[in-house]
Amino acid sequence: MTSNNGRRTLLASRIPLDQISMSTGRSPRLVCGDCGTWQVWKRGQVKAHPLRPDESESPKCPGSHQRVFADLTPEDLQELRAGAAAHARAIARVPRDEYQQAPPIAPAVHQIAARRCQPRPQMTAAC
Ligand SMILES: [Zn+2]
Repeated sequence: MTSNNGRRTLLASRIPLDQISMSTGRSPRLVCGDCGTWQVWKRGQVKAHPLRPDESESPKCPGSHQRVFADLTPEDLQELRAGAAAHARAIARVPRDEYQQAPPIAPAVHQIAARRCQPRPQMTAAC
């Protein structure tokens, strides 16, 4: 199925979790793929909006009137977010098998020069 803007209908479940908002009691919103701004999505369609909102003569964004199929409920979205957050926490806790120690930091030139100037038992100071 295509939208009024000639593009295929988006599935709400395919939109990245950080680019969709479906709070109960509020109109759902999503990040427009064309202009990258949050837009209201009502009656299965993204509201018409300017391509550059800060310009008064801006043309209409090609992402306007994008049809979106709500195959998620706000509760589903909340569950997906909770699952993604739990997954991220689990990954963060797993220690890495191939832990590499950071390479030694080379001394600065003035530190090398200072070491050369220090008297050594077998050498005479050349500084
Ligand atoms: Zn847009």
